[in-house]
Amino acid sequence: PFEYAPAPESRSIVDIKPSYGLFIGGAFVDGRGKSFKTINPATEEVLAEVAEADEVDVDAAVKAARRAYDKVWSRMPGRERAKYLYRIARIIQERGRELAVLESIDNGKPIKESRDVDVPTVAAHFFYYAGWADKLEYAGRGPNPRPLGVAGQVIPWNFPLLMLAWKIAPALACGNTVVLKPAETTPLTALLFAGICQQADLPPGVVNIVTGAGGTGQALVGHPGIDKVAFTGSTEVGKAIARTVAGTDKKVTLELGGKAANIVFDDAPLDQAVEGIVTGIFFNQGHVCCAGSRLLVQESIAEELLGKLKRRMSTLRVGDPLDKNTDIGAINSAEQLARIRELSDIGEAEGAGRWSPECEVPQHGFWFPPTLFTGVSQAHRIAREEIFGPVLSVLTFRTPSEAVEKANNTPYGLSAGVWTEKGSRILKVASELRAGVVWANTFNKFDPTSPFGGYQESGYGREGGRHGLEAYLK
Ligand code: NAD
Repeated sequence: PFEYAPAPESRSIVDIKPSYGLFIGGAFVDGRGKSFKTINPATEEVLAEVAEADEVDVDAAVKAARRAYDKVWSRMPGRERAKYLYRIARIIQERGRELAVLESIDNGKPIKESRDVDVPTVAAHFFYYAGWADKLEYAGRGPNPRPLGVAGQVIPWNFPLLMLAWKIAPALACGNTVVLKPAETTPLTALLFAGICQQADLPPGVVNIVTGAGGTGQALVGHPGIDKVAFTGSTEVGKAIARTVAGTDKKVTLELGGKAANIVFDDAPLDQAVEGIVTGIFFNQGHVCCAGSRLLVQESIAEELLGKLKRRMSTLRVGDPLDKNTDIGAINSAEQLARIRELSDIGEAEGAGRWSPECEVPQHGFWFPPTLFTGVSQAHRIAREEIFGPVLSVLTFRTPSEAVEKANNTPYGLSAGVWTEKGSRILKVASELRAGVVWANTFNKFDPTSPFGGYQESGYGREGGRHGLEAYLK
């Protein structure tokens, strides 16, 4: 083990305050007393003390959002709302380095991902939905669509800013106002975003941020003043939310877990496929709902492909998220690390072969090496349950129909990947896969113009693209 030393010049561009309040009605206000700590998962250092909103705080946020909706935002012409969204997008670009560094510090993800993927995609979402704000008659809801009202939005910790953008940009473009709750382990970039809303002169109350854990989320989704619930997170909590809102007239979209198959046929370009497999499962430490966590490889090429994959995995650098050469950063929390360890140990106990390249990890913080399981069968828990970490389960198949059957043998259905030179095979297999997104000869690509969402226990509703607008209009 070596001592972790953060790159000082990167760290110095963010100003982390010792404590943070809630963002309600356009201002930072104190919560009513309770607070929690957010830590840097790469060092276990406490970053800040953050207010934990209770029901009274949530009520104040919902009322602020309602006032802004009634008095300002729902009355504003779309082209005027667009100006604010464009302004926010521009400020995100201008403050991109600061956002990326803070995201990496609070979440643990490598800076090259937050800088080159998360933050540019966040800006792209605001630009994209800004463009829709004055064209909503083409959104697919008839000639004169109306906003829903106040949206209560709850997001997870794996892409704190990107999930915020997926939620806030379409909601605002359509004329809704929002109360958003970030995850308890990654609240800081949402609070920085609140400052960006102030900088953009967004009318007070259009965006409100309430920090806290599950109880704060519960208070928000159960609040009678909310017209729409948008949730991204685990299937378990998604189901609890569906029960909470059942019988009310709240609209709901749920983006939940996944266990995606990445299918490699014997005619696939293997080196390209190896890169896609690595991106598919090791991007963001595997904390990705659509991660390609099950590799389905055609038997005839399995040995060759696995040889190449192991060599490639041996080149991955695990460590300091702020180091530009890091490929795999810190696991987001001790709790998540414990879950990854537990499921990996179960994989071994159930008889699968476990392999990781040798890698030195820092002494403090939460780390897990890139890990491969071979000899995995459909019945193994590592083939069925979402691990949400850098752990890949390898299964083999002989025929295309067997590949599809195995890929679909899951309660989830968020995404899948297909690797083959044959265009006809891509189309046939994609049409047979029960997954909201199918990537062909690539993986984990996100674009604001494309709808994203699941089948089965991966949830319902779509975010992104024109489809993403429908969730915020009536
Ligand atoms: P989680 O469900 O534990 O928490 C998600 C959010 O819900 C957090 O903000 C949490 O505080 C809040 N929450 C917890 N209990 C709640 C309750 N009873 N009522 C309301 N809110 C509550 O999930 P997580 O561990 O933060 O995130 C990981 C999960 O998110 C994975 O399953 C992953 O697949 C999923 N995810 C899905 C997508 C997608 O688009 N489908 C994207 C990213 C992550």
